[in-house]
Amino acid sequence: MNYRIDFNRPHLTGKEAHYMYDAVQKGKLSGNGEYTKRCQQFLEQKYGFKKCLLTTSCTDALEMCALLCDLQPGDEVIVPSYTFVSTALAFVRVGAKIVFADSMSRNPNLDAEKLEELITERTRVIVPVHYAGVACDMDRIMEIARKHDLLVVEDAAQAIDSYYKGRPLGSIGHLSAFSFHETKNIISGEGGALCINDERFIRRSEILWEKGTNRAEFFRGEVNKYGWVDIGSSFLPSEVISAFLWAQLENLDDIQSKRKALWDRYFQLLKPIADKGLFKLPDLPDYATNNAHMFYLVLPSLEARQALIQKLKDAGILSVFHYLSLHKSPYYAPKHDGRRLTQCDRYSDCLLRLPMYYDLSLEDVDEVCRVIAK
Ligand SMILES: *Cc1c(COP(=O)(O)O)cnc(C)c1O
Repeated sequence: MNYRIDFNRPHLTGKEAHYMYDAVQKGKLSGNGEYTKRCQQFLEQKYGFKKCLLTTSCTDALEMCALLCDLQPGDEVIVPSYTFVSTALAFVRVGAKIVFADSMSRNPNLDAEKLEELITERTRVIVPVHYAGVACDMDRIMEIARKHDLLVVEDAAQAIDSYYKGRPLGSIGHLSAFSFHETKNIISGEGGALCINDERFIRRSEILWEKGTNRAEFFRGEVNKYGWVDIGSSFLPSEVISAFLWAQLENLDDIQSKRKALWDRYFQLLKPIADKGLFKLPDLPDYATNNAHMFYLVLPSLEARQALIQKLKDAGILSVFHYLSLHKSPYYAPKHDGRRLTQCDRYSDCLLRLPMYYDLSLEDVDEVCRVIAK
């Protein structure tokens, strides 16, 4: 079906094909070349990551995080249930047991105040997800991690250019993962980045990234031959993908300010309706910024949400719900410990995402809000 107003459309800055052509002309097409380094340095300098490595997806970056955490079978990893499959899957693949955390009632992020109840002797890692690019309470999470000697991996897939008390998301946990999937703010079709803030992990991350070899050290002239030294995979993207990504990163400020203008318009137009108690608008705690990744509503019931999706659809507007709680998924439900996670279930039933992309116009936003108001 064709919609008058789509839910998402990938935005092109105009330079993508130019840089991709340039990469092709230079005849260096495999990974870790000029464009890859340019993107990595940009992210390191802008956000203060100690090291950034581009990956073929955020899922891959999370898999690298799971490998770097060096877990033993049966080790426990705390993951919110209201998230994308990859957040949990990366750790399942290294044999970890997932302990699902519930969301807060104020927003879908995991409830840091209830985190300690989930910690056992086998807990090794906490994986906060910054839902909609809105920060989790990182001071509280890092304090709990320090107290119990745990690692923190930020799933910052949606969180580019967003901050917690002035600190960039992805720069606070030991490790973090970003996504450049075409549904995110900055895109390369499929793509991602692993960011490392704890220096202990830098050397091994480069080895895992390049198929278990110390190739990166060799090319820096630090060793005189390279070989197989560890496990790993081919996690790095080709230069063609990195060239595309560079065209996006170069325009990050423009992309972010346009998205924020759209987000602010939604907020302004929908606030009077939310004030009547008909639905809730996105919640931004004092410690968090908004990176305009997503504009969502939380309706009072599943029925109300489905009815609104239908009304918008009738008006040619595509709006969509989001995650199904992972603790109820066909794959993990039999392994879940049976705790009820009522907030996750509430967001699964009641959260609705509205169209949000660079090429949406303010008039489109006005139209969506008119239909909602009606
Ligand atoms: C998009 C997303 C991912 C997966 O990113 P890919 O780049 O598609 O692998 C993981 N976690 C969250 C929270 C996401 O939003």
